[in-house]
Amino acid sequence: MSVWEKSSTVRVVPSARPRKLAKVPFVELADGRLQGVVSSGSDIGRVYVSSVEAGTYAFACSTNNNRPCGGARGMFCNHIRALVGEAVLQYGAERVARYLKVEVDAAEPDAQTLTDVMAATRPAAAGSSAAARVFSRFLRQLAYLELAPSTAPVPEMQWFPTTRAVA
Ligand SMILES: [Zn+2]
Repeated sequence: MSVWEKSSTVRVVPSARPRKLAKVPFVELADGRLQGVVSSGSDIGRVYVSSVEAGTYAFACSTNNNRPCGGARGMFCNHIRALVGEAVLQYGAERVARYLKVEVDAAEPDAQTLTDVMAATRPAAAGSSAAARVFSRFLRQLAYLELAPSTAPVPEMQWFPTTRAVA
């Protein structure tokens, strides 16, 4: 293998499982949070910016227009649950649990278990101050879609599934 092929192999992390990009187009473990962008189930023009903080599990969910999510009053909404599910597909449950500091007894934790353990601590709402930043990171990632085709490694492309996408 050439040098770039080798470096591409180490730098681009394949997702553990194929992800549903249509439902959760962006997910990352960054800034001490699990955060990402979740499509609205009903309105094709609306997305939600959702996040869960490591350690405290303080959560936030709002639309791209900064309106609070009606489902996230006092508990995890469906967007946050979807985000945890997709993070587990992308990174594997163990890595997500480690990043968020979730203690699970199960040898093979799944997204449901992680969500239940976090929800059981009755986490607080975190406010939406991070949403704009998360959304701009998503848009920056989208900009890579407009790059001319190239065989050189682009590390940010790693959020695309390495196997067939599940629509
Ligand atoms: Zn929500």
